[in-house]
Amino acid sequence: VKEQGRDGWHFFSAGLEEKVRQKLSISNGLRLAIEREELSVRFQPIVDSDLPHIVGAEMLLRWQPAEGPISPALFIPVAEMTGSIIPIGAWVLAQACQAEADWRTRWGDRAPGYISVNVSARQLNERNLLDEVKAMIKTHACDPSRILLEITETALMADIDTNLRMLRSLADLGFRVAIDDFGTGYSSLAQLTKLPVNVLKIDKAFIDGIEHQPESRAVVKAIIGLGRALGLKMVAEGVENAAQLLELRNFGCDYIQGYLFYRPLPAAEFIETVEQNINA
Ligand code: C2E
Ligand code: CA
Ligand code: CA
Ligand code: CA
Repeated sequence: VKEQGRDGWHFFSAGLEEKVRQKLSISNGLRLAIEREELSVRFQPIVDSDLPHIVGAEMLLRWQPAEGPISPALFIPVAEMTGSIIPIGAWVLAQACQAEADWRTRWGDRAPGYISVNVSARQLNERNLLDEVKAMIKTHACDPSRILLEITETALMADIDTNLRMLRSLADLGFRVAIDDFGTGYSSLAQLTKLPVNVLKIDKAFIDGIEHQPESRAVVKAIIGLGRALGLKMVAEGVENAAQLLELRNFGCDYIQGYLFYRPLPAAEFIETVEQNINA
């Protein structure tokens, strides 16, 4: 809505003020979120494109302060801006290490192959990160080769040299690396071959139009071809219907994540779901 005269401006500035206030209260709340035990994680199962077999899960952060839950789309950018993402991201990584070890104890060889965890570029810039994750691996006796670190293409390319160095060190420890929201940034082929990457996650924006938009189809097909040529695994994100699944299968996409199969689940429900899947 365009501002019309004085009232319009008034409305606009009130909206802006409201937004600033909201960000401030998020930023204050986030600082206490860990000690107040307001953070939790969900697990969204990821399935093989030709079997209903669960190959892994993405761990997704949830924040529920006393006033009610707040979307990660809202609080993650604030956490990145204020630096709260450093302790929060470390908390998330520790949860991933713990979950990996737990799954292996529970299910052995039948455990889902990997657990995916989102890592912000701010974390990769932190000098302490390597020492911290080494300590976590020890504490939880986890296998880093079963943990997939997801970094968005945009964040990765914004400071490619620093990120590349840190990702190499993490890969040396055994971690796997995925480029998240792939297709929305500007990776060059040359850069891609230099990165220690194992997985490309195709952004939901392209999956949304795949059944009826020739452009989206072309992009998805090209990304899958590219990933293939580089020996990477491809995950399609935000798959919501059978028509999309069919297209992705035809293009040779390896793995599928989306509401068509599963929503992000609390740990207990995730465990039940995997058990049914294993015994199916
Ligand atoms: P993302 O990494 O791209 O995660 C996928 C998002 O898509 C999740 O939203 C997931 O719930 C949602 N999703 C999955 N399948 C479908 C589908 O079929 N349809 C639709 N409409 N949505 C689907 P969520 O959990 O709200 O997270 C939003 C974003 O917040 C994530 O996007 C990620 O960028 C960030 N985030 C979440 N957890 C963490 C975390 O622990 N650390 C960091 N740094 N970022 C996180
Ligand atoms: Ca992700
Ligand atoms: Ca994504
Ligand atoms: Ca397959």
